[in-house]
Amino acid sequence: MKALNLYGVGDLRFEDVPLPERKRGEVMLRVRAVGICGSDIPRVFDKGTYHFPTIIGHEFAGEIVEADNQSLVGKGASVFPLLPCGKCLACQTGHYAQCKAYSYYGSRQDGAMAEYLAVKEANLCLLPDGVSYEAAAMNEPAAVALHAFRKSRAALGDTMVIYGIGAIAFLLAWWAKAAGVSNIILAGRSQAKVQMAEQLGFAAVNVREVDLGEYVRGLTGGEGADVCIEGTGCSDGAEACLDVAKRFGNVVLMGNPAGNINISQNGYWQILRKELQLIGTWNSSFSRQENDWQQSLQAMQSGILQPEKLITHRFSLSEYKKAFDLMHEKQEPYLKVMFVL
Ligand SMILES: [Zn+2]
Ligand SMILES: [Zn+2]
Repeated sequence: MKALNLYGVGDLRFEDVPLPERKRGEVMLRVRAVGICGSDIPRVFDKGTYHFPTIIGHEFAGEIVEADNQSLVGKGASVFPLLPCGKCLACQTGHYAQCKAYSYYGSRQDGAMAEYLAVKEANLCLLPDGVSYEAAAMNEPAAVALHAFRKSRAALGDTMVIYGIGAIAFLLAWWAKAAGVSNIILAGRSQAKVQMAEQLGFAAVNVREVDLGEYVRGLTGGEGADVCIEGTGCSDGAEACLDVAKRFGNVVLMGNPAGNINISQNGYWQILRKELQLIGTWNSSFSRQENDWQQSLQAMQSGILQPEKLITHRFSLSEYKKAFDLMHEKQEPYLKVMFVL
C-alpha cells in the first residue's frame, strides 16, 4: 500500500509499504480522510518522532474492511489515537489522556497517512448517519475543543474570548454557541483568519489593529470576559488573556507552547488582583463516564459542529509535499489541510 513514512527530520517519503497485520482485538481500517495536525509540522520538519521510520497521521476516519466482529465490516469510524497502557491509576479511572505509558497512532507507532491501518476495536467511534469521513477526520480537534470548553465552565450568557484563530478555535466557538454563550470573540493576528471568522458568523478581532482588552471591556460594561481560552501557546496570548479576563474570570490554557511562556509583572498582578482561575486542558476524554469523541460526532450529526467548513485544502497522499509545504511555509491562509483517499 502507499504511505507517508517519516524516515528522519525533513525526510518524509511517499512509498510502498507492506499492508499492516491485523491482530486480535483490532479491525482493519481503509483510511478515507486524514488531517494534517499542527503538531505534524514540527514532527516532520524539526523534532522528528520516537523512532524511524514511522507512518504519521493521527486525525483520521475510514471504513472498517475486516474485523473479528463481522457486524462492524462496512461501517465508518473515526479513531481515538491514544493507546492507553490500561494498568496505571489514570487508566483504571478512565483518564486515558493522563496515562504515563501510552502509545499513539501516528507518532509512537504507525498512523493513518496510509491506505490502511489496523486499529484497536476499543478505540473506534462509529460514524452516525450523515457524518462524512472528512468531518469525522476532525473528531480529534472537535473533542479537544469540547474538552477545553468543559474545563472553561462557561455558561449561558457569558462572554468568551478565544485567542488564536485556527480549526480548534472555531470548533470551540460552535460548542460555546450551542451552550448559549452570548458573546464569542475570536482574536488573532492574521487578517485572513479574522475574515474567515466573520464569514462563519463570529465576531473577530485583529489584535494587530485593535486593542483586544478595550474592545472586550467596551462590550461588557468595562468588566471583561468571563472566560478566555489561550490557543496559541505564546506569551502574547497568555498576556492578552490575563488582561482581558474579568474579575474572578477563568483562563483556560490550551495552546501547546513552542518555547518558554513569559508573563510580565503586570500580567502576573492581573492573576492576583482579579483572583483569576488558570485552568489547564490536555487532549480529550474517551471513557464511559465522559466521552468527548462520541459527543462530538453527535454534534456533527445535529449540525452544532460543521467541520467541513473548516477544511480549506484537500490533497491526495501523493501531493504530500504541496500539503506540508503549504503549512510549514504558511504559503496561504489555511484552517484544516486534509488528505482525502
Ligand atoms: Zn493532533
Ligand atoms: Zn495507563
